[in-house]
Amino acid sequence: RAKRDGKANHHFFEPSLDEQARRRREMELDLRLAIRDGGFELYFQPLYDLRADRLQGFEALIRWPHPTKGMVSPGEFIPLAEETGLILPIGEWVLREACRIARAWPDNLSVAVNISPKQFLAPGLATTIMQALTATGLSPERLELEITESVFIANVEKTLGTLHSLRDVGVRIALDDFGTGYSSLSYLRSFPFDKVKIDRSFVQDLAQEGNAHAVIRAITTLAEALGMDTLAEGVELPEQLEILRREGCQYIQGYLLSEPIPSAGVNELFDEMAAKPRQRATA
Ligand code: C2E
Ligand code: MG
Ligand code: MG
Ligand code: MG
Repeated sequence: RAKRDGKANHHFFEPSLDEQARRRREMELDLRLAIRDGGFELYFQPLYDLRADRLQGFEALIRWPHPTKGMVSPGEFIPLAEETGLILPIGEWVLREACRIARAWPDNLSVAVNISPKQFLAPGLATTIMQALTATGLSPERLELEITESVFIANVEKTLGTLHSLRDVGVRIALDDFGTGYSSLSYLRSFPFDKVKIDRSFVQDLAQEGNAHAVIRAITTLAEALGMDTLAEGVELPEQLEILRREGCQYIQGYLLSEPIPSAGVNELFDEMAAKPRQRATA
């Protein structure tokens, strides 16, 4: 029965698979043109230090203003860029551009850059990063790299080697989307990340059920015991912020503070974020 269903589905979806393949080829070509013509932009979203009550820096998030499709979000093109290897030139551009822009910010602000699995596992990442730092004059401790635990699945030994070589460069390393992978805890034990970014899904649940508090508390307690900072992603509500503060989460990021914005707008946030988010939220 399963076989027949599968076959039926196959026939039913065949035209749309063609269509999908056509769209992918088109998008790949468009990506190549965007790489050639400098067609990407970086947006920045604040990372806020609850304990120090100050702005820590910004996460750089790529945007693609497409000539006909409007703003294309990374969720729509990063997977294709990964599959085609185009993530390598794109990722290099992101690194360079993020460092260049952050160089103009006050010295105590850092910039976080997402490194995709293929980019992470490609040879020469440490060199690429050193070149971006040297070319822009940004000091290494102001650059934070965000990786997801999926890099461990490919090759644990190699991943640990790369992480240590990046640590030698002097940059900080954050584990992104923590809690969404398979065996998160073992990776935490394997490498001393500077920061653990708790995935948005855990923060979303905070407003509703009681168990979510316990999960946040467990993660912050564990991270603290291992000498790592914690950041909660996707904070949208003042209630969530209060719970996170109470459960010992040091950093937050989310629409409550600000959506990602173009780099021209970040200067305004330098001063504004001197105010406590508690006040901002109720203002
Ligand atoms: P991420 O690294 O986990 O980035 C956080 C994502 O959550 C961003 O989506 C951000 O806009 C969104 N976000 C932040 N606060 C909130 C909130 O309060 N509520 C909700 N609903 N969403 C929030 P974005 O910019 O669409 O990026 C999606 C993903 O694409 C990123 O997830 C990251 O994995 C990837 N990405 C973005 N920029 C780059 C890049 O330059 N290089 C690579 N390799 N990946 C990137
Ligand atoms: Mg990230
Ligand atoms: Mg994240
Ligand atoms: Mg996430």
